[in-house]
Formats: sequence, C-alpha cells, structure tokens
Amino acid sequence: MSQWKYGEYIKTGIVHERYGMPCQDSVYELEDENCAVAALCDGIGSLPHSGRAGRIASMAACHILKKCGGIDFYRHAEAPDGMIKDLLERIDAYISYKFNEKHIDRTQGDSTLAFVFVSKKFGFVFAGCLGDSAVCLIKKSGNVCLTENNPNIESTASVGMREPWKYCKTALLRLNSDDFLGAILTSDGMDGEIYAKNTSQVYQNAAYYFNCAQKGNFRDAIAARVEPMVRRSGSCFDDDISVAVISRAQGAVAFPKDSTWLCCCGERNRLDDTYCNGCGRDFLDVYRNAPFERFGGKTQFFRYANSHPDFERKAVLPAQNPNGGGSNSSPFSETEQAHAEVQSAENRPEAPDERFENNYDWEKIAAAGCLADGEVSCGRGVLNGTGGNPDRGMEWWQKVSLLVAGATTIAVGITVVALHRKGGKS
Ligand SMILES: [Zn+2]
Repeated sequence: MSQWKYGEYIKTGIVHERYGMPCQDSVYELEDENCAVAALCDGIGSLPHSGRAGRIASMAACHILKKCGGIDFYRHAEAPDGMIKDLLERIDAYISYKFNEKHIDRTQGDSTLAFVFVSKKFGFVFAGCLGDSAVCLIKKSGNVCLTENNPNIESTASVGMREPWKYCKTALLRLNSDDFLGAILTSDGMDGEIYAKNTSQVYQNAAYYFNCAQKGNFRDAIAARVEPMVRRSGSCFDDDISVAVISRAQGAVAFPKDSTWLCCCGERNRLDDTYCNGCGRDFLDVYRNAPFERFGGKTQFFRYANSHPDFERKAVLPAQNPNGGGSNSSPFSETEQAHAEVQSAENRPEAPDERFENNYDWEKIAAAGCLADGEVSCGRGVLNGTGGNPDRGMEWWQKVSLLVAGATTIAVGITVVALHRKGGKS
C-alpha cells in the first residue's frame, strides 16, 4: 500500500455561479511504483476555453512527469532551463494539439500550473509553480510556499506565455530524511487563507487542509470550513477554489504560528497586510531599511525577527526615526548578518552534475524513458466533478490520448511547437 494519501476539493466561485460560468480549476493525480504526482491548474478567467486548457495541462503535467519517473532527472531539474523548460514546452504543445483537434485557437484558453513530483525511486521532490496558484511544501524544518512574487507583472504568468519557465518558481529537495511530509496545492481563491501572495508564507490555517488528507472524506471536511467562509456576507473568497493535498504524514501535523510584522505603534500585522491595522502606517515605510534579501526574503526575515525580540525591535526603530541619527551604519549586528549569510548559503544548490548540462542528452534520455515505459498504466487518476458542471467532465479522447501518449505525444508536441512558434506566437 502506498504511503501517500491524497485529497481533492474543487468549488465553483460564487461569482462564476451567479453568471452560470464554469469552474476553471482542475486537479489531477497519478501514482505508480516510481513516483507520486499531483497537479493543479487555474484557468485564466478572461479566456473562454481556459477550463479546458487547465484540464489538459493538469493531466499532461502528471502524465509527462510520471513517464519520467523511471529516470533520475534530479540534476536536470536543478537547471533553470532544464526539466521545467522541457515540461512546460511539452504541456503547451499538448494543449495546442488538443485545441487544434477541436478547432479552438490556442490563444483562447490558458492556465496557471502548480505541481509536485515525488520520486520514490530516486528519493527527491520536484515542485513548481507558475502564476498565482500555489504549492505549499510541508516540511518539519519549516513550510515554504511557492507562488508568484512579482506584484508588478501585468497579468499572471501562464503555460501559454512566451518562455514561461522564466516565471516559474521551483523547488528541489531530497526525500531521504523524513523532513518532507507532503504538499498543499491551491488556486488563488485561497490566497489569504492557506498562503499569502507575494511571500513564501504558509498560514497556520493551512494545517486544517493538510490534515484533512488523514480523514475519510476530504471533500466534506474541506467544505465544512470553506462553505461558511464563502457564504459570509462581503466575503473576499468569491473566486473558484481548489485544494489538493498529497501527504505521507502519520496523524495530524501542527503548523508553526504565522509570522507577523511589528509596527512602531506596537501592533502586529499579517505579512500580507500593506497597512498597519493599528495606525495605518505603510509597511514599506516601517521596514524601508530592512535587509530582506540577506535572509532569503521577507517571510524568512520575519520568521527570524519574530523569534529574536531584540533584532525585531531594532528592525522597527529606524523607521520611527527616518534620519537614523545621521548615521548610515546598519542597525543589524555582525552576528545577525552572519546568520543571514549562513541561511542563504544553505539555500544554494549543489554544483550541477555535468551529465545533464547538455539539453540534447536529456532529450535522448527522456525519449528512451518514454519508449521503455510504453505500457503507460494509469496508476491513479482523479479529476473532480463539481455537481454536474458540464465543463468539468473528462472526455474520452483526453483519456485515450493521454494513455497512449508516450513518445508519440512528444514527437507530435515538438512538431506542434515548431509550427506554433513559426506562426508568430506572442
Ligand atoms: Zn502601526
């Protein structure tokens, strides 16, 4: 029996419900002896066929990754234009191919992508997030959320954009210790509940969702919490909501308390609060001089600050006195700076193995892996319906084509990409 437990929940947003629009979120999962994979896609709302694009993307991501499950692609996954580029190109090509069959223009549907791949065979976890969905990695050493962190970008990053891998956040961890417990994948409908956009914060609330994977009926358990939130008058949770959990935890897991930013008025605020709830001061004014980057980001900075009161007090003081007493010296001590450096060194990846430096070699390995895995059995596939919504059913051609995919898909995919690019994709 597999040690991995799964849970999936999808709910049409109340705004979509009101206008009779389909839910555009999709969740898909697969498992075999080599790996366990889960993917979640949130269709881009402004395009009519985004629900379809998301459905194809979530299935394609799982099937492609599962096909590579017999290969140790750890080194290839470390490269910023390695595995993630190959994966996103193939998913995009597959959407194009499937849209083409239905005579749908590729530009009429697009989606975000969040996925987690657990290599049981080679003992690593590869996760990625493109756009404003999120992957929350649940670890004993500290939870981390991968999500979009560019508030200046005009629209969310998506599979169909040009060079999407440049906007994709990825994580690669070794599975050999018991540190990694699983992951929560979610759409931006749960921003503010499970995770905070533009930070790597996983809220303490998220423990409820993660622990529901231990229960018999995941969907009912999630609905019991989400429904009242959504129905509350003036609720900000009006978008489509999807949550997928993959877990190997034994029993309920407690999550750490949420990090906060302390204001000079003494009020503590959530990390995604832009203005102080006590005095209305702008976060950016209070923490104008804070060295977030030296700690690896805002979330890591406040995790450290919250557990080091002297440090935290100093971090707030400079904003109280913007002239800093005429001194340019850093308010942070040598020890704290050294701590920041150690932290960023810990996050630095190992030197890449020469074996996978050449993408051409990787293509050959992936192709061989796909051929060897010709039987392509469907270990576990889940696609949720949401109460008879017509946009949510999986059509037979999707099942059949994905199951017989293999090397053919990739060959077709590459051709489609070539044609697509030639056609002047923007
Ligand atoms: Zn304040």
